[in-house]
Amino acid sequence: MNTDEIVTYGDGVLRARAEEVTEFNEEVKALIEHMFEVMAANHGLGLAAPQIGVSKRVFVYDVGDGRHALVNPRLTKTAGEQVEVEGCLSIPGLQGQVPRYERVTVTGINEEGRKVKIRAEGLLARVFQHEMDHLDGTLFVDRADPDTLEIVATEAEEAQ
Ligand code: ZN
Repeated sequence: MNTDEIVTYGDGVLRARAEEVTEFNEEVKALIEHMFEVMAANHGLGLAAPQIGVSKRVFVYDVGDGRHALVNPRLTKTAGEQVEVEGCLSIPGLQGQVPRYERVTVTGINEEGRKVKIRAEGLLARVFQHEMDHLDGTLFVDRADPDTLEIVATEAEEAQ
């Protein structure tokens, strides 16, 4: 586990509203590539740029079908509800049940610089909401049912 680069709870960057990316350039591509590596090294399902100290509206995710990125993501549709256990690479060792939308539609720019519209449900929808929250300075503990928050001895399996 390599958490050296992960910003943890208490750092102000996690509470700031991240800035829009104005141009999809080499710098953004390099940021995405770096975030892919950090996410993989930490076995994350997702990682938002503020979690490595970069206050930009970028997140990466991998729920089992490859690494992808979304730049300037926007939630355009929501439906249903799901409640599942979440953790966060920035709050190591803590888990809790978080209510989320079951289905979401998200628009943004992908890792290739293309405009995309993605309909997601279940786990992917949850990862999208968790990562987009990071871009607005919101953490899962803000949304978790406080009675369900618990410290787990081992690394969270689904840390984001
Ligand atoms: Zn997180």
